[in-house]
Amino acid sequence: MNIKFQEIKKILSELNKFSEEEINAKIEKMYLYMKGILEWNEKVNLTNIINEEDFIQNHYIDSISPIILEEFLSSRNVIDIGTGGGFPGVPLAIIFDDKKFTLVDSLNKRISIINQLCREIGINNVKAIHGRAEDLAREKMLRESFDIALSRAVSNLPVLIELVLPFVKAEGYFLAHKGPKGVEEIKAAEKALKECSGEYKGFVEDIYQKNVEHIIIKIKKSDSISDKYPRRAGIPNKKPLI
Ligand code: SAH
Repeated sequence: MNIKFQEIKKILSELNKFSEEEINAKIEKMYLYMKGILEWNEKVNLTNIINEEDFIQNHYIDSISPIILEEFLSSRNVIDIGTGGGFPGVPLAIIFDDKKFTLVDSLNKRISIINQLCREIGINNVKAIHGRAEDLAREKMLRESFDIALSRAVSNLPVLIELVLPFVKAEGYFLAHKGPKGVEEIKAAEKALKECSGEYKGFVEDIYQKNVEHIIIKIKKSDSISDKYPRRAGIPNKKPLI
């Protein structure tokens, strides 16, 4: 198994939550999921990263950064919008098998591969759903139903706020994975925050990324959201709330 998995082992043992046996079982699942994604990737485009070490750094270590946040640790129901090949949702689901993860993507092929791999590997707390966030946010079962929403590499903050906050319960959080430029996006997101009942609560640096600067932006859902949002599929991108 790739030596870089040792880094994840270390991160997990420092959490003081899991036994060595549990950690080994989680690493085994991450290994199988990576193998599965890389194998499928030869037929269906899931990721540009095909080197295992880079995969572990960019898809695993980067994805799991919310584990340093109490808001994430105390949550039960998590949604990942625009999950692609299952990031950040799947690695977090492997680590926290007592939380329920709902993964959303508008490309059905990606969704069926995630569901199939999770079934095969025994990742039982993941449900991947096909659809656009704009449409799924109108479904009763999904709207304002999650303690935490995550999203990585999908859009800029003003657009994301409209796509993601409708899924979050009042008092819940949207934790956005962002690069260093994310801080600039916050300034442009003032209107989107106001319209979608969001409150900017600062950002934390991703301590597990050594080479690049990554941050997690914390947005709290302060209240229930107007029925106006999200607007029809495609509109949030075309006419962002800025
Ligand atoms: N989060 C993953 C994938 C990023 S690529 C990662 O970090 O690796 C962006 C993904 O978002 C794509 O798979 C795309 O299909 C999906 N996506 C873009 N707009 C969307 C929308 N409005 N609703 C649902 N999924 C969307």
